[in-house]
Amino acid sequence: MKQSIYLDYNATAPLLDEVKEVMLEVMGAPYNASSVHSFGRKAKQLLESARQNIATALDAGGYQVIFTASGTEANNQALSCLNEPHELFISAVEHDSIMKIGNKLHARVLPVDENGIIDLNAMEKLLLSSQKKPFVSIMLANNETGVIQPIHEIAQIVFKHGGFLHCDIVQAVGKIPLSINNLNADMVTISGHKLGGPVGAAALIIKKGLQVKPFQVGGGQESGYRAGTENIAAIVGFAKAVEVAVKNMPAGRKRDYLESRIKEIAKDAVIAGEKAKRLPNTSNIAMPNMTAETQVIAFDLEGIAISSGSACSSGKVAESHVLSAMNVDQGLRNNAIRVSTGAQTTEEEIEAFIKTWERLYKKANDSHINKEAA
Ligand code: PLP
Repeated sequence: MKQSIYLDYNATAPLLDEVKEVMLEVMGAPYNASSVHSFGRKAKQLLESARQNIATALDAGGYQVIFTASGTEANNQALSCLNEPHELFISAVEHDSIMKIGNKLHARVLPVDENGIIDLNAMEKLLLSSQKKPFVSIMLANNETGVIQPIHEIAQIVFKHGGFLHCDIVQAVGKIPLSINNLNADMVTISGHKLGGPVGAAALIIKKGLQVKPFQVGGGQESGYRAGTENIAAIVGFAKAVEVAVKNMPAGRKRDYLESRIKEIAKDAVIAGEKAKRLPNTSNIAMPNMTAETQVIAFDLEGIAISSGSACSSGKVAESHVLSAMNVDQGLRNNAIRVSTGAQTTEEEIEAFIKTWERLYKKANDSHINKEAA
């Protein structure tokens, strides 16, 4: 195995040193935040300051932070917990944790254009046709392409129709500046392991005053919304990760450099959502004449970790519903890889990626040209 280069930050990010430090301080202690004794009181204090620190870092003063064990759980609960009668709408490019619960709850699907942006006219028409209050779930930034939705315009349309909005901001936190108060969605999902926190801590952030059903019943933890003893070490680490990630927002434009080099090498390479506003760390690149599966394996043999489509939902290579919704050419859809960088990614690592990509492109396309000539 060659040196390891990790370019799959949208799947999960390495634990930050600052996070490891605070987690180790807390980990061994018998902390149950519901206990009355001094250990319990200390746990409660750690839990509440983590909640407060997340709200401060993300400017969420008008919201209540409910901890969950994953972004998937928060998304599933978001779509299931609204008390008022409503009709559910989800975009065609949501993460599987919204797509699958949305399908189960008979959500109607909002189309996107070829750049992966919600078609606002189509959305308005669909909301108008609804017999009940619309409840719309649209992500801020896409995990496969990095495409950023015009969430303020979306919110205006939803609210004009008396509806509710849930926004999955899992991929946006720490990558673009954001304020949950300004976003103004009714519910927001975040997840710790995407930003250098531990796996197993995430949150559904709910506008104060919104009437929602408990997700899980039992001992009444999380203000009765999500029973179950809180994982104090993970939550403390999660809060630290949010603080650090928001403070150290990536300044450079590694993505633009990487994509311009790919375009120099191959004019026929296709970058999904190229014309849209996108996250500064994500590129979804289709290489003509080589499947994503082959590329992922070839990169892995070079010690470079990338993914094809949405790695966190599968572990196997399936066709991307995001690229299908964007109407990307069927042939290229199967050839798209996702490269996602993080704060620790170096210029040398980007160069190593480009070098391998060039070699694979030449190999695939020289033999293709030769085959056509024969
Ligand atoms: N939402 C988005 C946009 C994601 O990218 C992911 C994970 O990839 C999730 C939700 C699910 O988060 P978790 O891995 O914490 O369940």
